[in-house]
Amino acid sequence: MKKKGYLYSAQQLEEVDECPYCRSKKREIAHANVGDWSFGIIENLWTYWSCLSCASLYLSPRPKFEYIDKAYIGYFDSNVNPDIIIWSRRLLKYIYNYLSKKLFYLSKLYLLAPLINFSPKYIGEFPISNRIVDYISNSGVKKIKFLDIGCGGGRVLDYATNELRWESLGIDLSPESVTLCRNLGLHAIESNYSYVNDHPLTYDVIHASHILEHLYDPINFLNSISNNLRHGGYFIISMPNSTSYMRYFFAECWRGLEAPRHIAIPSIKYIKKTLLKLGFEVIDFSYKKQQTAMESMRIQRRSSKSTFLDYLKINNIKDLVFSCDEVDIITLLCIKK
Ligand SMILES: [Zn+2]
Repeated sequence: MKKKGYLYSAQQLEEVDECPYCRSKKREIAHANVGDWSFGIIENLWTYWSCLSCASLYLSPRPKFEYIDKAYIGYFDSNVNPDIIIWSRRLLKYIYNYLSKKLFYLSKLYLLAPLINFSPKYIGEFPISNRIVDYISNSGVKKIKFLDIGCGGGRVLDYATNELRWESLGIDLSPESVTLCRNLGLHAIESNYSYVNDHPLTYDVIHASHILEHLYDPINFLNSISNNLRHGGYFIISMPNSTSYMRYFFAECWRGLEAPRHIAIPSIKYIKKTLLKLGFEVIDFSYKKQQTAMESMRIQRRSSKSTFLDYLKINNIKDLVFSCDEVDIITLLCIKK
């Protein structure tokens, strides 16, 4: 029988009457009755509002900050054996390299999607795109000091440390994640992003993948990075885009929502404008048009597992036309001026 999730009481919730990104109070309901359909940790149903000024999506009511940890219980699976992770990553890398060399046809790799999807939890994260890595590696900095904020199971940290040979540190709020990273031989500590305030101008590259949408004050986070990254340093940030075509297509079943952990999801247009205002220049980006499609199909069926059928169905929406503002999950490479 499926285990019941945690149910927040009314006293543990708070109303939010302004957009956490632009502070506008103009809004309308975007999606109602959204469940924790990816992890099933929380039983409540949630409402996402759309900001009419900046097009961000935000949760209201949301868990009060002191209770948000309830939504992360079991989110990080500490029972994953580090040896399995190491061997799985090696195997995937081998297959990837083999196909890249032999087929010269990377798009074939989408055939591996179900394999990656069904492999242990921590392997599903993709490392930084090769184009972005090339850009940083060719920047002339000899020994790159790298900070991964929210390093999770250490996928990017492992890649930066062992493949790119960057001097790397990961920080994460989850003690389970930090332990896992350390068991993998990586340098990680338990901390929140205020770590950068205590180590100003130290890092050449700061990476924050899927952090912004989890934060109560995302602009404060971006300010901290801007104030503490050295001039000429790089900031790599990934997030779901509130104006994603996939969001319009799947509505409340869009995987990018992930209530109640995704507190506020920005629009790509607004985030680019904000980064510019904070002294960053966006110099490159990578995205997947429909990264969330398969997971959103699964959510639509209210199932806990993706099937090969979901994967085949993606083909039906593969050729839809997208504008730049409609990309699904986006990674931006910014340079601090
Ligand atoms: Zn707004």
